[in-house]
Amino acid sequence: MTTILNYSESRYYRHTGRAPIVGTTIATLAAWIAVALLGAAYAYIQLYVKLVDILSFLFVAAFAAAMAFTVYGVLKWAKVRNMAVTSLVAISAAILGLYVSWVAWEHALLRQSKVNVGIHEIFQRPIVVWHLARDINTEGTFTMRDRPVKGTELWLAWAFEALAVLGATIALPIMWLRDMAFCESCGHWCHKTQGILRVAYHDEGQLQERMEAKDFDYLLALGLVHLDTPVHVRADLYRCPGCPHTHLLTLSRAAVSYNNKGQRSEKAKKIVDRLWIDQAQAEAVRTLPTRLERSMIEASASGGAPDGSGMSASPPRS
Ligand SMILES: [Zn+2]
Repeated sequence: MTTILNYSESRYYRHTGRAPIVGTTIATLAAWIAVALLGAAYAYIQLYVKLVDILSFLFVAAFAAAMAFTVYGVLKWAKVRNMAVTSLVAISAAILGLYVSWVAWEHALLRQSKVNVGIHEIFQRPIVVWHLARDINTEGTFTMRDRPVKGTELWLAWAFEALAVLGATIALPIMWLRDMAFCESCGHWCHKTQGILRVAYHDEGQLQERMEAKDFDYLLALGLVHLDTPVHVRADLYRCPGCPHTHLLTLSRAAVSYNNKGQRSEKAKKIVDRLWIDQAQAEAVRTLPTRLERSMIEASASGGAPDGSGMSASPPRS
């Protein structure tokens, strides 16, 4: 069954809230199994490969990132467009992955001390996990600059680890999936092309109004800018890879900054968030830069505007 989307129904794309029941159930189970394996792997590496100082921080970050990508990957695979379901899976997977890492770690430590107890027995008793953690804390488990880390310092390290892992595993998949678009006509996630066009910053209300009126030549009038321009408007296009029905336009206020190593970073705040446009309109936006360049070449060929003043034509006033 195909549904042809009715563009007049709503101006902006929003997730339909659908979560296919079979796919979502499989994805949830897959996410739980995957994070449990990741948690166990993390614990054993922590225990058997003694990581110190900066490496242990990087290792926590790698574990947190792996957990986040796993949850994101399975939810995307299951085509979940429901943020409540996404949140539930992310939260449960985050807690499970961290908990399993503790269980596996304590189990391995007990075995090193010749205490034989099944890993499932520890898993079923969170209170035992807690008491063991308290005991381990008084002795310390790792050293930093040749000094054992224990007590409050170790509690802080564990708290940092828990916050990083839980925070990343919960927040990142929600953030990534919330910003995506799904084509309900044919059942594909849309491809996003970021920065298809960058134009001079201008009044946001007016920009939104013109975009809703599908007046894309207005962007041309604002003038193209280089991607290093400190504050400008960035246009992103979403396109369904499977059919010609879904095209969306997002405009953001992009703030560009450089750190002391000269690395560029861009913060984007949405002005127009996934506005429905049709195929012809998407094509019009995509070809705006070429059209502008062509008009500049023509202008300079006819002897006018050799200084490229066509780049900065003042926006039309309303
Ligand atoms: Zn499609």
